[in-house]
Amino acid sequence: MQTQPTASHFINGAYVEDKSGEDIRVVYPATGEVIATLHAATPAIIEQALASARAAQKEWAKWTGTERGRVLRRASEIMRERNHDLSVLETYDTGKPYQETSVVDATSGADALEYFGGLAAAITGEHIQLGDDFVYTRREPLGLCVGIGAWNYPTQIACWKAAPALACGNAMVFKPSETTPLCALKVAEIMIEAGAPAGVYNVIQGYGAVGASLITDPRVDKVSLTGSVPTGRKVYAAAAEGIRHVTMELGGKSPLVIFDDANLENAVSGAILGNFYSSGQVCSNGTRVFVQSGIKEAFLTRLTERLKGVKMGDPQDPKVNFGPMVSERQRDIVEGFIAKGKQEGARLVTGGNRVDLPGFYLEPTVFADVTDDMTIATDEIFGPVMSVLSFETEEEVLSRANATDFGLAAGVFTADLTRAHRMAAGFEAGTCYINTYNDAPVEAPFGGSKQSGVGRENSKAAIEHYSQIKGVYVRMGDLEAPF
Ligand code: NAD
Repeated sequence: MQTQPTASHFINGAYVEDKSGEDIRVVYPATGEVIATLHAATPAIIEQALASARAAQKEWAKWTGTERGRVLRRASEIMRERNHDLSVLETYDTGKPYQETSVVDATSGADALEYFGGLAAAITGEHIQLGDDFVYTRREPLGLCVGIGAWNYPTQIACWKAAPALACGNAMVFKPSETTPLCALKVAEIMIEAGAPAGVYNVIQGYGAVGASLITDPRVDKVSLTGSVPTGRKVYAAAAEGIRHVTMELGGKSPLVIFDDANLENAVSGAILGNFYSSGQVCSNGTRVFVQSGIKEAFLTRLTERLKGVKMGDPQDPKVNFGPMVSERQRDIVEGFIAKGKQEGARLVTGGNRVDLPGFYLEPTVFADVTDDMTIATDEIFGPVMSVLSFETEEEVLSRANATDFGLAAGVFTADLTRAHRMAAGFEAGTCYINTYNDAPVEAPFGGSKQSGVGRENSKAAIEHYSQIKGVYVRMGDLEAPF
């Protein structure tokens, strides 16, 4: 593969290797073959990364917003020019079909770089007049930010964290998931080519222990994690020790509510996009599909017909639209949930099996007659498993939809305008969809409520999470004191 990175880490503007670090084997999920062996960061590598980021940040923060923005926008152009190669690599890293990666991964990373590149010059403080005196605010960077990624969108996650962080004048040390370590290294290469000073964006590899040691270093000002709730709990607690800023993009078990009056074809499309895109490995997926009883059977019939359009095979083939699970381990986890669904009495409508192909494929799976207390309706599965539940009234479905500790996303399909907005207002979730599902444009905030997260990525809201305000009080007259 010509597009592969040439070493494990990218620090201070260059590739760096330290073979004494623990092996990280990169497995192509479509074949099970090891396509690269990288090494986890040793304490010496971690030290180099943190020291170079700390030093680079001081200089980077002195650049004007326009200058920093220009670098990010140039990086976005390079990403778009290299979209094909980056998409091929993303497919090797994750197993997601090229049909998806070529339109979603490097492109959404480029969108983030372009958007925050455009905003960088507009990140300003304000002036507050107080009679003759006044206060002005400075919007300052936080300093050194650590990013820790999940394995489902490695390029996108690297860019969604880097773009707002760098726009605000921070430096970043990013640790990708050990399952998909390749793509973020390419983002680091591109940043340097685009003119970012060495050390402003560094990538180091490792398992959870490397992430844990980054968070507790006293030089680190913020940590932004994309991962599961259990990891989020640990990372949040470790960050709290040092009173560090956090962004937590965690898991979900989101509801997708389909009313009788919905356009059936669109609702089925929403359920497919919200359950089977990226083989179901999407945090915001609407995996609890509540269908009003009047259209439940019609919904299941049409869904089953539409699933005949699934085409599995070599994910690098642009005609293939459904890839394998990211790893053998993830396939085993998902199979465990499928077994549990059967055991607890859900009706298997379609799928549920492995596929006769090399690699870690699982069929898209639909369960009906699912009840709220079944494991497949309460736990995040993170695979191609849809649970269909039925309901009668709006009030009932809203209360059942919200009866979860997660709060990442929620969707509603209906032709009734006021009901759609009532539902959106009632959902306890950070991102809601009306007659669509899983869109994530950079212009809109993305993130969770309840246990699904803290903070927001994308949109102007992300600036709040990568900068802090300093108030400067200026007195124009004499200063009185009691004695
Ligand atoms: P994970 O929680 O197992 O790992 C996430 C990252 O945290 C990895 O890089 C891992 O090495 C690191 N890590 C593990 N233990 C750590 C520790 N103690 N300290 C610091 N870092 C540690 O998650 P995953 O399996 O890679 O990804 C799937 C999960 O991510 C799902 O729950 C999914 O919903 C979630 N996710 C959320 C979003 C979002 O935006 N909300 C996006 C994608 C994925």
